Amino acid sequence: MFGKSFQRKYALSDQGVKNTKQATVWTVIVNLVVMGGMGILYLMMTRFMDTLTNGAPLPGIWLFVGLILAFVALSMLTHLQQYRATYGLVYGEVKAVRITIAERLRKLPLGYFGKRDLADLTETIMGDVNRLEHVWSHCLGYLYGSYISTAIIAVMMLIYDWHMAMACLWGVPVAFGLLFGSRKLAKRNSERTKAAGIQVSDGIQETLENIREIRATNQESRFLDDLNGKIDHHEKVMIKGELSTGIFVNAASVIMRLGVATTILTGTALILSGQIDFMLLFMFLLAITRVYAPFDQALALIAEMFVSQVSASRLMEIQDTPIATGADSFAPKGHDISFQNVGFSYDDKQVLRGVSFTAKEGEVTALVGPSGSGKSTCARLAARLWDIDSGKITVGGVDIASVDPEVLLSDYSMVFQDVVLFDDTVMENIRLGRRGATDDEVRAAAKAANCDEFVVKLPKGYDTPIGENGAKLSGGERQRISIARALLKNSPIVLLDEATASLDVENETKVQGALSRLLEGKTVLVIAHRMRTVEAADKVIVLADGKVAEEGSPAELITRQNGIFRRMTQLQASSAEWSI
Ligand code: ADP
Repeated sequence: MFGKSFQRKYALSDQGVKNTKQATVWTVIVNLVVMGGMGILYLMMTRFMDTLTNGAPLPGIWLFVGLILAFVALSMLTHLQQYRATYGLVYGEVKAVRITIAERLRKLPLGYFGKRDLADLTETIMGDVNRLEHVWSHCLGYLYGSYISTAIIAVMMLIYDWHMAMACLWGVPVAFGLLFGSRKLAKRNSERTKAAGIQVSDGIQETLENIREIRATNQESRFLDDLNGKIDHHEKVMIKGELSTGIFVNAASVIMRLGVATTILTGTALILSGQIDFMLLFMFLLAITRVYAPFDQALALIAEMFVSQVSASRLMEIQDTPIATGADSFAPKGHDISFQNVGFSYDDKQVLRGVSFTAKEGEVTALVGPSGSGKSTCARLAARLWDIDSGKITVGGVDIASVDPEVLLSDYSMVFQDVVLFDDTVMENIRLGRRGATDDEVRAAAKAANCDEFVVKLPKGYDTPIGENGAKLSGGERQRISIARALLKNSPIVLLDEATASLDVENETKVQGALSRLLEGKTVLVIAHRMRTVEAADKVIVLADGKVAEEGSPAELITRQNGIFRRMTQLQASSAEWSI
């Protein structure tokens, strides 16, 4: 019952399965103890009836008092254990599952994040796990325990009097049959509700992110109408889903309760025909309340369990996505980056075809080419942010596909356009380059990256918090922070995406100055946008249509008649920007 498929169905950890087993066992014990209480009541009633009808003296009153006290004590003890097993232990499970998912996400190839949006992933880590938490704590042990205890009680009833047992119990399988029949519908509704919910979060996120543009272009009403539409849709889908679940759950509950009527009818008929006495009917009526009580609650939970399986399968999808793995050690001979016949596609779209080139250590290799020709892709592949489809990429002779991406990345610094700054102080933002760097080292790197001059003007200097995503810094300043990080890291390979953002001349000169310090002696692969960078490069790789169209020193390429590089240079002669 609690095998691998159970574990996957509810996205449980190994410990979670153990906890559920415990919770189930305790639920069975609790249900049986309560049933035992009913037995005591039945015994007492028969004795009293005996006294009333035959005038026999009331026997063993103290025995009953003792039994009742023992029952109360046992009942409290077992309930406490059940509570501990179901709730106490499950809370650790939430933490364990969230950490497992976060660890997994950290190791997933970046391509995965292109396919799933952020709102969706957040919903999985927070929403889906919360929903499952409720199922783990309130449903699993309770429901499975009730299955087992009811089966035990049903067998006892059947042995005692099968006519009466059938009259009591027929509703249980019918009610569950009805619910299981509606399972597909519940799942479909849940998927729809979730999709609509994600659209709402996406809409809100999009509106907040673009608030400036929306205001500037007077598009408030269009965006708000759109968002209102999404919220209305979500509400409708949700109400429809809950309504249909509610109908099935209530119908099942009513059917199960019809068992009380059939028990009374059958019981009365059997009493009249002299086959049973009234006390037996009384006993079955007592028993029936105990059979129904856990299931009544379980019926409401079971709908939640069906729905939670959608959450579980979303979690499992992340768990099942293959991660990039490799050796823990990386000892290349030098740091030349070599692309050998590399082919790569995003999903179905082929972006690179048979790309071969070498970026030498101690040299600046500039990737140029029209927008969309695959320059950024090459830079990402060089750091194994994605795995390639064909060919080979080596660093110092070592195939990077054989190295664990985290180990590999310790040899890389990336200075990309979209610098991510965290909501922390300047000092900590720079320290991200190398954990454990001292304050003095951070300051030295900041100075070398020309950060020092603007940092000291900030209200608290290096201890000034910079807003989420560095909203309080200019483009050039953010970029210099990112260069400071790279300087601190001092890794042998630097991947650089030159900013296209229009920096003012002063800022640009400072960024250039900082860069020249960073790049010295490294293997540098730069996605070049500026003439100055291209001219200063040791080697230029011209990409066009996902292939290397030209390769050589800038001086060499400029002389090539009808060459792309020559044409681009002429086109760009009057502009500082390189991209076309
Ligand atoms: P460049 O840097 O030369 O402008 P890119 O390497 O960014 O070119 O992109 C090459 C092609 O790959 C483009 O057609 C672009 O649309 C596509 N592309 C880039 N990133 C992704 C992605 N994450 N998913 C799908 N397609 C992408």
